[in-house]
Amino acid sequence: MIKQIRTRYAPSPTGYLHIGGARTALFSYLFAKHNNGKFIFRIEDTDFARNVPGGEKSQLDNLSWLGIIPDESPEKPNKKFGNYRQSEKLDIYNSYVQKMLEDGTAYKAFDTTDELLLQKEEQEKKGQFSFRYDRHWLKLSSSDQKKREDSGEFVVRVLLPKNKEYIWNDLVRGKISFNSDEIGDWVIKKSDGNPTYNFAVVIDDYEMEISHVFRGEEHIANTPKQLAIYELFNWKKPEFGHLTIITNTEGKKLSKRDTSLNQFIEDYKIQGYCPEAIFNFLALLGWTHENSVELMSREELIKSFDYKRLSKSPSKFDIQKMDWFAKKYMKNEPNKIMKNKLLFSKGQDENWKDIFLNTYKENSKNIEDLQNNIKIYEVDKIVGNYLRNEVTETFKEIFLSVEFNINNIQLAIDQTKLKCNVSGKNLFIPIRQMTTGLDHGPELAKAIFLFGELKVKLRLKNDN
Ligand code: GLU
Repeated sequence: MIKQIRTRYAPSPTGYLHIGGARTALFSYLFAKHNNGKFIFRIEDTDFARNVPGGEKSQLDNLSWLGIIPDESPEKPNKKFGNYRQSEKLDIYNSYVQKMLEDGTAYKAFDTTDELLLQKEEQEKKGQFSFRYDRHWLKLSSSDQKKREDSGEFVVRVLLPKNKEYIWNDLVRGKISFNSDEIGDWVIKKSDGNPTYNFAVVIDDYEMEISHVFRGEEHIANTPKQLAIYELFNWKKPEFGHLTIITNTEGKKLSKRDTSLNQFIEDYKIQGYCPEAIFNFLALLGWTHENSVELMSREELIKSFDYKRLSKSPSKFDIQKMDWFAKKYMKNEPNKIMKNKLLFSKGQDENWKDIFLNTYKENSKNIEDLQNNIKIYEVDKIVGNYLRNEVTETFKEIFLSVEFNINNIQLAIDQTKLKCNVSGKNLFIPIRQMTTGLDHGPELAKAIFLFGELKVKLRLKNDN
């Protein structure tokens, strides 16, 4: 029986939080929270050359911004489970390697690079392109081995049982199996003394009592290797679920190099998207609610998250869809909060700000959008030609004779409509072009109001 559900997200601090990583973290988080469990954040930083300064902090900051707050992390460790950075656990991995060497479930192999290359070439000649160690070292006589053992570098390889099936019931895909003969004795400790990913991750998951592992499908082929280590130590295995890939709208796997699409959470944070909208959107990137509900708060998502509804086919990252979510969330953001995030100019008082926000919020996907729309009204002067006709002249006369407020502007529009007997485009376009210099904009009376009395009147009066 599982004592407690514990899931984890274990990034390498090699860059910013990517959409794919954020989704893995989110599903791990939702699964843990749905089951009253714990979500753990830990760091795989033993590929020292690839680590980037600030990588860990940026991963964590972006997760917290999304509202995916880990229960345990390098900053919030549970002492019982040791360190949360692999670089701080090297002696622990080594002690497990040592144990395997003593048990005879692993061995040191002193093959040179040339010897390994030769094996690789021979395998390729036979049409086998994924390298499988052929136990070359074990085939040498013990005197030959002895001669070479004192010199040269070595790696430690696991001694896999022959012809053994590694089978697991994947939480997303159902039964998956690999034969040990397809894998070969893989390296658990590299010649630089550091553990490999496939080895260290097992030690971490075991020691941290991880019950369920969710990760990307690129890890499927790693899972049998990891299962082998659990079995050799006779440890209880976690359950595994491999999430399908995320593609662009053309169905191609998202590539971090593709700059046509913002793929890092940081990008959305900078543009001022609502984090709750992204949280909601990401949850539907490979998962569906049983009643196809789409707009869901964090609490609703935790409550309804059922791993059985994780998708078996790739999920499309559609920015239009994301922006749809973003607008829905913007609409409900309190003006008070938005005002603090935006820069207004002097003349824009509280009333102006509220009217602006109420007009633009639901059609804006982020703060950047809103800020750009504020700029429309900050021009020094309204410019642009327009055609004068009966409509413009009638409107001008009424408009200039009343006090400047939205109600009166609306009345002037309504009276112009009656007097000239026009409606729709023929009414709105001439008035809009005359008062705002623009062809498009929000509801006409509000658009005129937002430009402000001074500017609109100046334009109309100077234009005789
Ligand atoms: N650091 C690995 C990755 O980013 C973690 C893999 C795992 O979850 O086991 O893909």
